[in-house]
Amino acid sequence: TKWVYTYGDGQAEGGAEDKNLLGGKGANLAEMCNLGLPVPPGMTITTEVCTWFYKHDRTFPDELPQQLEKALDYIGRLTGRTFGDTQNPLLLSIRSGARASMPGMMDTVLNLGLNDDAVKAMAVDAGDERFAYDSYRRFIQMYADVVMGLDHEVFEDILEDEKARFGHELDTDLTAQEWQQVILRYKQIIIDELGEPFPQDPVKQLWGAVGAVFSSWMNARAITYRQLHNIPVDWGTAVNVQAMVFGNLGENSATGVAFTRNPSTGENQLYGEFLVNAQGEDVVAGIRTPQSLTEVARLEAGSDKPSLEKLMPDAFGEFSAICGRLENHYRDMQDLEFTVERGKLWMLQTRSGKRTAKAALKIAVELAENGVITREEAVKRIDPASLDQLLHPTIDPRAARDVIGSGLPASPGAATGEIVFTSEDAVALAEAGRKAILVRVETSPEDIHGMHAAEGILTTRGGMTSHAAVVARGMGTPCVSGAGSLRVDMRTGTLLTVAGPLGKGDVITVDGSSGQVLKGSVAMLQPELSGDFGKIMEWADAARRMKIRTNAETPADARAASSFGAEGIGLCRTEHMFFEGDRIVAMREMILAENEEGRRAALDKLLPMQRSDFTELFEIMKGTPVTIRLLDPPLHEFLPKSDDEIAEVAQVMNVPVDRLRERTDALHEFNPMLGHRGCRLAVSYPEIAEMQARAIFEAAIQAGADTGEHVVPEVMVPLVGMVEELRFVKARIDAVAEAVMKEAGQQIDYLVGTMIELPRAAIRAHRIAEQAEFFSFGTNDLTQTTFGISRDDASAFLDTYQKKGVIDEDPFISLDIEGVGELIGIAADKGRKTRPDIKLGICGEHGGDPLSIHFCEKLGLDYVSCSPFRVPIARLAAAQAAL
Ligand code: PEP
Ligand code: MG
Repeated sequence: TKWVYTYGDGQAEGGAEDKNLLGGKGANLAEMCNLGLPVPPGMTITTEVCTWFYKHDRTFPDELPQQLEKALDYIGRLTGRTFGDTQNPLLLSIRSGARASMPGMMDTVLNLGLNDDAVKAMAVDAGDERFAYDSYRRFIQMYADVVMGLDHEVFEDILEDEKARFGHELDTDLTAQEWQQVILRYKQIIIDELGEPFPQDPVKQLWGAVGAVFSSWMNARAITYRQLHNIPVDWGTAVNVQAMVFGNLGENSATGVAFTRNPSTGENQLYGEFLVNAQGEDVVAGIRTPQSLTEVARLEAGSDKPSLEKLMPDAFGEFSAICGRLENHYRDMQDLEFTVERGKLWMLQTRSGKRTAKAALKIAVELAENGVITREEAVKRIDPASLDQLLHPTIDPRAARDVIGSGLPASPGAATGEIVFTSEDAVALAEAGRKAILVRVETSPEDIHGMHAAEGILTTRGGMTSHAAVVARGMGTPCVSGAGSLRVDMRTGTLLTVAGPLGKGDVITVDGSSGQVLKGSVAMLQPELSGDFGKIMEWADAARRMKIRTNAETPADARAASSFGAEGIGLCRTEHMFFEGDRIVAMREMILAENEEGRRAALDKLLPMQRSDFTELFEIMKGTPVTIRLLDPPLHEFLPKSDDEIAEVAQVMNVPVDRLRERTDALHEFNPMLGHRGCRLAVSYPEIAEMQARAIFEAAIQAGADTGEHVVPEVMVPLVGMVEELRFVKARIDAVAEAVMKEAGQQIDYLVGTMIELPRAAIRAHRIAEQAEFFSFGTNDLTQTTFGISRDDASAFLDTYQKKGVIDEDPFISLDIEGVGELIGIAADKGRKTRPDIKLGICGEHGGDPLSIHFCEKLGLDYVSCSPFRVPIARLAAAQAAL
């Protein structure tokens, strides 16, 4: 087996296509060599060695030493030096390099090969004794830390001690002789602490370092990073062994990092920093302030330190030409590392640069418009989830932040407003044209109207899937949840913070992108939906097959969704329409009525409200399909709870409070999610479905007349498990349609369909399709009922499941393709068998999740429906799925 690949002097044994074998760094170093760029010669020990290493009790393959030796000879030939030689020693850098970049997670050793003899040769060679001994002590320190496991702090302590003894302030003040003293103490402490000396044999050093880098694949940091970024453990890392070049050989040496374009704005200008007379680590360490690469950037930063362009025009000229070449070659923005050793430029790394969502759009659009990549490639390059960052106002990164607490970044974007502690106050403030931040311990469905009215939401309890987080994300309202360092005191109406108590009316800012809570208002940047964003969306739309609809019931949501490009409403949850204003009272009256007559009285009050709601929605949606779902309330969310609420309803219904309380108690359910909800309600009380159907049809006629559009409502029956349920409810809907048509003297086109959100419905879909003209997969309930996991209580133990590796992803967020997905596939097939042209869509939360959207494309669904702020994400994800 070939375990070692060399590169240098315009050629390499590998190339960019060998990422899996050579890791990202190794493959790109090889590629740069192949391009003829100046790269210090080196070798890459493959990721397969890493796999072997772990399979064989942390040992190496037998052929490795010989291959390594050969590669060292090769590097030696190209550099004119010899590894282990005392006169002309070859010094090496040893770095990790996995397939996916894992910045800073694994170990590095520099200056390897130095020992008591080589350091003398280095001093002569460099003409700088001080430099040589400084390099040697850095090497000892790094090696002892990384390979021998001796904490670097013991060395820091010695260094501080010696500096004090010699009366020096800075490391750079130490002379060669003083460094030698430090080195003596370094070597001694290694013996004292570890009982073995620092190895003088370069070969021993090399094997130690290579083993340490492979071992660092399993260090705690790396393991955590892999988990966070879904990097499989069996990928392994490669080890790059490369001839050292020195950016710290005096004033004509330098080292730096660069991006071929600005990584935060995407602007097409070389962007980066460097330090004169420094090693790579010094640039990132932030001890010295780095200088700008270009004159333009220097002027912008208002710095009086010269740019590389000015200081080393030749090296800079070569570097900027290489940047252009690499960007064209890789057809993407690159992130580079370089060193200038005595005026000579060396390239140490290139890779695709990380960038903000905004920069990603700009770069993809520019590359496509310049013909470097196709529009499809541009569409494929944008991470759909990252668009979320762009749809909301964000805090100006230049603004000062007065942070008074922090929690989870539950819903992105930032909002400023006055503190309110109740939903009523939020509504009142909004009605007065002022901005509110709703501050609660946690929120419940009764807060919906307050959450709608608020600019931002802050809770002190609850996680990423708490009510506040989920609802806020759906609404696109910035939210910080679970800010445990803050306390809400409802009694006194105060928010207790480290900066003292704040009361109603005090202004705060919540940053739902970072989780921070700030005092006062902060400068914001507004979202930019035209420009690059608009272009990518346009290209995505050209590429996708599925339609994108939205889940919306309020006019504001419907408008927002339309502006984001929604092509219809896939789910209007009518029960949500009853939390507004005094509707809740009529709703409660209806639920609590003791007989049909009482219910009808309440329904008569609700009918005009529903009719005008639907009319408005139809008008906003301008003739695109609108799916309205019949009432599907988990009843408990509607029952009056407090004495005040019960008294209010009792008065309206004109019944004694006690009677009403009895009725509420009678309606209590142990398991409301599996209780009297969905179509069960319509079967028990058909008059409710009839009222809603009437409101829908009358609204369709009205909206049609108002707008001149042909409105074709889609009436959706929830929680159907048996075809007989649907048959029963559909008959009522059809009868109402008939009646309304007769009254209006006009034809109405409409569809009746059902949610598929119970396993039985999926399995019996061929029968259900006899009655249903469309299916909409309700994957929230389908996930809940397939797993038998309560969607409202799951986060507590699903978190544990994820931590313990039992599941990778929360199935309520990303569709369980193997299980729930299989049911969807079965239902789609069976439904199509009965009714080949049956319309299929999805309206559970998964309709806005990119991975789930890919699955929907595979099944050939007609549309996905998601919350308004996810519409652009869904448009892009659907395009990527189709490409
Ligand atoms: C579903 O169950 O997936 C669904 C969309 O309905 P709801 O979330 O309203 O139960
Ligand atoms: Mg449901």
